[in-house]
Amino acid sequence: DLPPINGDFYNLDLKLTPEQREIQLKVRNFMEDEIRPLVNEYWKKDQFPFEVIKKFSKLNIVGVPYEGYGCPNMPFLMEGIIAQEIARVDVSISTFFGVHSGLAMGSIYLCGSEEQKQEWLPQMAKMEKIGAFGLTEPNVGSGVAGGLETTCQFDGENWILNGQKKWIGNATFADVIVIWARDLDSGRVKGFLVRKENPGFSAEKIQDKMALRIVQNALITLKDCRVPEGDRLQNANSFKDTANVLRMTRAGVAWQAVGCARGAYESALKYTKKREQFGRPIASFQLIQNHLVEMLSNLTAMQTLCFRLSEMQDQDLLTDEHASLAKVYCSMRMRDVVSRAREVLGGNGILLEYDVARFVADAEAIYSYEGTKEINSLIVGRAITGYSAFVS
Ligand code: FAD
Repeated sequence: DLPPINGDFYNLDLKLTPEQREIQLKVRNFMEDEIRPLVNEYWKKDQFPFEVIKKFSKLNIVGVPYEGYGCPNMPFLMEGIIAQEIARVDVSISTFFGVHSGLAMGSIYLCGSEEQKQEWLPQMAKMEKIGAFGLTEPNVGSGVAGGLETTCQFDGENWILNGQKKWIGNATFADVIVIWARDLDSGRVKGFLVRKENPGFSAEKIQDKMALRIVQNALITLKDCRVPEGDRLQNANSFKDTANVLRMTRAGVAWQAVGCARGAYESALKYTKKREQFGRPIASFQLIQNHLVEMLSNLTAMQTLCFRLSEMQDQDLLTDEHASLAKVYCSMRMRDVVSRAREVLGGNGILLEYDVARFVADAEAIYSYEGTKEINSLIVGRAITGYSAFVS
């Protein structure tokens, strides 16, 4: 008998409680039964499978770490474990989930007034309303901290928003889009809950992406978009508040990289046991085993690092540089794992039906979003040297 395929080589699962393990298996089974059969088709069509939203909501995992408002209030570790499970099958679906549950709900949870939380979070936890998060702009990506071009100004009655946001996941269909803009009067960054029906808001789907094709990313245009004061995030008073949201979600993105690498490794290992050349399974060749072991060692290092990262998050010890180091390290190692997986599949490594090609393409999005390798490295570099290298 061949040994089972297990992408958790050091049995980190054993550190979970029986209840946590049950949730992990519930998510795994859901992803295998409901999502895996349809992802390649939707990826090819460049469409989002809206039918899964209702099924997804039944898992009761939306808004994982938040307390109250119908959210599960589980440790951050479980948010990571869930991100890994979802991304292990499909990175697009995990991004859809991360944008809604992490970035959008997280902004409301951390920066919203009690009234705003009461209005949005329970509906979002049930996925009756879907959220998006608009920070990046056509001209401003890495430099959002000081360079937002989207503006807001209070006219005595409403806030008037003008500008564009690029790459905004879920925004073509989201009910509420968190928009970050610079106040023309105070110069400070403020956050807004823009409803899809707000006059002056429009979202156009970005076409022909070669990664995360299931996720609907939009170019948003805000043209004299009126937002009442009641929809301004009441506790977002500067970019520091935006950064607090990103610190929390960046840890989740590191876990997503783990899931992507794990999905690719497990697919590759399975393939090498079945595929025969020279009259033997290719898994029996030394050079193939070397690839598999390199993949597994990368994956295991990523998992153990993320486990500790989540423990620190649960102990309230997480800093920006901790989250950034994990994001940098895991996205680099993920890229190595998926490219080795693609290699051991030979020609089939570029065919959609073997899954690995999708992981290779989708890994490129993880590599760039929530801070590129350079930006997250500079955050860590600043922390360890005391010198900021962001500007010359
Ligand atoms: P740029 O900032 O133009 O960077 C180009 C290159 O220059 C990069 O290699 C970068 O590292 C490098 N660089 C920039 N500054 C420096 C420096 N000081 N030193 C060294 N190198 C530097 N944003 C949202 O707000 N919401 C979303 O939902 C969202 N979803 C996304 C989904 C996808 C699929 C993608 C691709 C992006 C998404 N983004 C989203 C945007 C994402 O966060 C940005 O793409 C990312 O921050 C990089 O910005 P940029 O693409 O403008 O690249």
